[in-house]
Amino acid sequence: MTRLHGPAPEAPELFIPPAVPTDPGELLLFLRTQEEWFRAVFEGAAMGIGIVNMEGRFIEANAAFLRMVGYDLDEVREMPFTSLNHPDDNARNVPLFRQLVAGKLSHYQMEKRYRCKDGSFLPVRLTTSVVRDAAGQPRFCVAMVEDITERHRAEAERRELEERLRHSALHDPLTGLPNRVLLMERLAAAVERCDEEEGVACAVLFLDLDRFKVINDSLGHFVGDQLLCSVANRLRECVRGTDTVARFGGDEFVILLDGTDASQAVAVAGRIQRELAAPFDLDGYEAFTTASIGVALAERPDERPEHLLRNADMAMYRAKGAGMAQCAVFDRSMHAAALERLQLETDLRHALQRGELRLHYQPLVHLGTGRVAALEALARWEHPEQGMISPARFIPVAEDTGMILPLGSWVLAEAARQLAEWRAEIPEVDALEVSVNVSPKQLRDPGLVEEIRALLEEHALPPRCLKLELTESSMLDDPAASAALLHRLKGMEVELYLDDFGTGYSSLSYLHQLPLNAIKIDRSFIHGLEGSPSERQGNTEIVRTIVTLARSLEVPVVAEGVETPEQLAALRELGCDYGQGYLFSRPVESGAARDLLLADPRW
Ligand code: C2E
Ligand code: MG
Ligand code: MG
Repeated sequence: MTRLHGPAPEAPELFIPPAVPTDPGELLLFLRTQEEWFRAVFEGAAMGIGIVNMEGRFIEANAAFLRMVGYDLDEVREMPFTSLNHPDDNARNVPLFRQLVAGKLSHYQMEKRYRCKDGSFLPVRLTTSVVRDAAGQPRFCVAMVEDITERHRAEAERRELEERLRHSALHDPLTGLPNRVLLMERLAAAVERCDEEEGVACAVLFLDLDRFKVINDSLGHFVGDQLLCSVANRLRECVRGTDTVARFGGDEFVILLDGTDASQAVAVAGRIQRELAAPFDLDGYEAFTTASIGVALAERPDERPEHLLRNADMAMYRAKGAGMAQCAVFDRSMHAAALERLQLETDLRHALQRGELRLHYQPLVHLGTGRVAALEALARWEHPEQGMISPARFIPVAEDTGMILPLGSWVLAEAARQLAEWRAEIPEVDALEVSVNVSPKQLRDPGLVEEIRALLEEHALPPRCLKLELTESSMLDDPAASAALLHRLKGMEVELYLDDFGTGYSSLSYLHQLPLNAIKIDRSFIHGLEGSPSERQGNTEIVRTIVTLARSLEVPVVAEGVETPEQLAALRELGCDYGQGYLFSRPVESGAARDLLLADPRW
């Protein structure tokens, strides 16, 4: 090896064992020196060293050893090594020692724990070897002891970290409940245990909180999170320890009931709904929530876990459709319905391109003059095989799939085009207005305002002739954003109707903040004007209240679904401004609507 710098290192001093002297005096001196030399090494060693005799009793121990175990040398002497061990470690230690004594081993190594004087346990690594005399007889054993506390702690920390990582990979950080991954693991295991013969089944409850978004948006995410945690706690209390409550995402929870049957599962769903019915105290707010629950049962071990979950989800949607706080059990017909819906989705995608959508128009009649004041545009789908499909069926599908945006754009464009055509053709309808239904998703589309502005420009329409009909729920989703958008529309002088009023979760104080131009009372109240005497009275009061409310907001009221002359009379009596319904006309196609405008009938 070449060195670049410095002097050449000194050669290390070689240890040359001195020759054993033969002179007795020198021999004595020699032995004493040797003895001192070994004692210095023994005492000064950082490693603990203990010497035990062949009976396994300590005869000597160095300072490091005594520091480890906390005893004095006097206390350790004569102590059998077994009494210094953790009792559980003797079963391994004693046989090894015996083999050493019997000459079957020259040494052994093991990890064990010492029981220290203060009662604590010290993890150590021990290497014991035997020392023999000149005749080969075993004389004593030397135990070299290394304190491995640090290594143990590092290992424990590593294990704990691993455990924490595993926990966080399998649990929801907010509620601490098992997450989707862990749920699927347990579900797969539970399904495998199902036994058709023995009647052992497992059930999945798919739970979705009703109107969680409203609470979250109105009271804030912090309160929303608190609600989710409280719901999680109540759910945990509703099931057995062997069941799994998992957070599936957002406000969805999945409960896996292991070893159950349909009636038990439904009973648990009922219990959950009762538990959730009690008010929640959220940071001083009293909040109420309900849940829609779908139940699916696996009875065969070959059932696919993801199918089971999908079935429960489907049943949950059925429950939601039936109103709030409902429970539905999956059956095969739901599967068929879901397939049919899937087909409808596919067909709807083509409907726009193939020109299968139509607009029908229904008049709004001014109750003072009895003349047509406006038309509502209502979408229709002429399905090539199924015939005319009601918007009540395809609008929700369009909303769920996002198709509502192109569909809504088409409706707006077609209504504007048709209105411009009528205005050009029939000069008397110069003041004619057309209203178009706008869905919640459209309201959240930042391009909506621009789209409407462009349409009005293209067809040279005064903004006041195009009205938008919105439902309360569409504004509840994001009240601040929709209020801002509505004000922008108002700025353009596009008028807004509140549709189906009374069916949503009317927040009356909130109505004042919206730039509304009319309120349409839902037809259920108008039908109620003719029910049993008590029904009639109740609905009359409701309509009267809505009319009064509208007066205070200085907007007119439209009654939807007017079917009979009696209803019309009652509405006139109550001071309702406009009416719409089969009594005047059903929604009709554009040609018939044009004829109606030309005829200018009076009611
Ligand atoms: P809506 O906006 O409340 O429309 C009024 C619904 O009541 C129409 O149903 C109409 O045909 C029906 N109707 C009118 N008069 C009477 C009556 O005297 N008695 C009864 N029983 N019903 C009457 P339609 O056309 O089936 O529409 C249902 C819903 O679908 C509409 O309710 C609206 O929310 C939605 N919709 C229709 N077209 C569109 C559209 O282009 N876009 C969006 N987003 N939604 C639409
Ligand atoms: Mg409407
Ligand atoms: Mg309506």
